[in-house]
Amino acid sequence: MIRIIFIFFILFNFSHAITVKETLKKLDENLYGVFGVPQQVSKENRGFISNAYFYITDEGVVVFDALSSYQLGKEFIQAIRSVADKPIKYLVITHYHTDHFYGIQAFKEVGAISIAHKWAYEYLSDPYAESFFKSRRKVLGEYLKGTKIIPPDIAVEKEAILKISNENIDIQHICEGHTKGDLIIYIPKINTVVAGDLIFNERVPFLGSGNSKSWLKCIDKIIEIKPEIVLPGHGDILKGKENILKKANLTKKYIIDIRKIIRKMIDKDGLDVGTVKSKIVEEMYKLDPEYKKIKLFEKVTPTNAYYIYFEVEKELFME
Ligand SMILES: [Zn+2]
Repeated sequence: MIRIIFIFFILFNFSHAITVKETLKKLDENLYGVFGVPQQVSKENRGFISNAYFYITDEGVVVFDALSSYQLGKEFIQAIRSVADKPIKYLVITHYHTDHFYGIQAFKEVGAISIAHKWAYEYLSDPYAESFFKSRRKVLGEYLKGTKIIPPDIAVEKEAILKISNENIDIQHICEGHTKGDLIIYIPKINTVVAGDLIFNERVPFLGSGNSKSWLKCIDKIIEIKPEIVLPGHGDILKGKENILKKANLTKKYIIDIRKIIRKMIDKDGLDVGTVKSKIVEEMYKLDPEYKKIKLFEKVTPTNAYYIYFEVEKELFME
């Protein structure tokens, strides 16, 4: 009997993928979030690997990011409806990475106006967008049904103010850090920053699709705002000014350290990219043994080193 119950329990666990609504959390007055699992995209998690948020005003709801499929977008809308009866007015996309914008069609259907950085057009006109979509479909199969890769209704170049219900929500493009089209969104009334993938909590950032030097500008901007809450694209939210400053500085320190070491390895030691990749973890630990405590440090850092190598090499060439 015990064995039967045990088997049933395992089967039940495997068949139950977490729904978006199950993760819904109230974060502050009128501010909510849904939280994807910290995994790679798979059929088991249906691509629900990123966070998304929404803010309720008297005039309507403003949503930040659309999750990674049409179906997850629809589930997210159901979650919003469970706590807000106001119309969903705007969807602001922090950056055009698939886990943040693939749910856009679901929001279009409920009449939301979508806003993203103008880089979205560049991204969508690159054949890579279509080939990535195909490879994602291979992984997710029917879970990607109904998903369309479409541009936003409004493109922001530098800054836009979203006026809703006597509030001014500030949308800014400060850096090309995580991607060429990162947006930072600031909600003054609750002193909250929606940071997309620019700030990581207890994790190492992925430095492969933007520019690490430019990324530092975005972190400085977030520090300068002195927010009470920072909403990241993955992982737990950051709360409290001091804690946020500490975490923002850790992300900043990691980027500064890896850049400094690689600069020396190229400029002084003349090392090639393969050697830099294989030595980087050891060199980072020598600089600061605290890095040993960070999750996935040894997995992500050599990949980051690969990208930073070419970035720093180019900078050296231009000097
Ligand atoms: Zn991203």
